[in-house]
Amino acid sequence: MKKLATKQCTVAAALSFTGIGVHNGQPSSIIIQPAAPDTGFSICRKFEDGHLSDVFPLEHDRVARTYLCTAVDLGDAGTISMIEHVVSALSGLGIDNAMLIVDGPECPVLDGSAGKYVDAIVENGVSIQPAEKKFIKIKRSIIVRSNDAFAALEPYNGRAFDVEIDFESDVIGRQRMIFDWTPARYATDVSTARTFGFLRDAKILRQAGYALGSSLENSIAVDEDKIMNSDGLRFEDEFVRHKLLDAVGDLALAGMPIYGKFRSYKGGHGLNALVLNGLFASEQNYEIVNAKDLPLEFDALEDVPLGMDSQGYIRSVG
Ligand SMILES: [Zn+2]
Repeated sequence: MKKLATKQCTVAAALSFTGIGVHNGQPSSIIIQPAAPDTGFSICRKFEDGHLSDVFPLEHDRVARTYLCTAVDLGDAGTISMIEHVVSALSGLGIDNAMLIVDGPECPVLDGSAGKYVDAIVENGVSIQPAEKKFIKIKRSIIVRSNDAFAALEPYNGRAFDVEIDFESDVIGRQRMIFDWTPARYATDVSTARTFGFLRDAKILRQAGYALGSSLENSIAVDEDKIMNSDGLRFEDEFVRHKLLDAVGDLALAGMPIYGKFRSYKGGHGLNALVLNGLFASEQNYEIVNAKDLPLEFDALEDVPLGMDSQGYIRSVG
């Protein structure tokens, strides 16, 4: 067993990505920049004339909408939607601090997963920072419900996600994934799972101005009992893996990684945001803890992605 790395880290260099917004169908680009210790994840908007908006912390109290994706409020600079995949990549890889610069109202969808972000971050490495890595340790269980769906955060000696979905579709059906987090495991088992949608919903969504950029290049399309993508699925249970990817991103809006267990059934962006609101409703629900004081350990993995060390942490540069 290897002890968790206990120092904060950020991306070693600025990384840029260009694509389209899956909902507005417009060209969009994003830059992930290194950020100072203890600044967490933050975001600003770049406008057509090149000027930048104020920088806002990417935290739960800035969530503006959770319909189909998570959107955050940047005050006079409007909202930026679909932030969950890039933030999932950062949090999933164990990065503590980064600033996002987005040149439109929606982050690019890329291939519908967080895989391209992960590849670039792993390839370029991270910078280890002097500050101690911190976690939000769950002290009391919080559960939020909507009909039979729920999302919960529970005390747990580790960082785990237990996500279950149940769709009335033969190709999806009921799927559950229990995931004990390590950066390497996130990269291999979670980050490449793509978003998905039903063809039966596509027309209604497009009439309402959503999914205008969606295609088989960036989504799994499900038509009743079959997958429309000619190359099929990346995992047999790719759907629940993507839901877990979304949860890692949405929960990163806690401002620090959560030390505890997240559970959800038929959940999504809305319940993920609500469970964070519930967490922060009382200071008795959590405490901020230094990583070195936590018994978070994990096996050294043999097959780690390129650029990761034997602890599953991304190779540091400089
Ligand atoms: Zn998603």
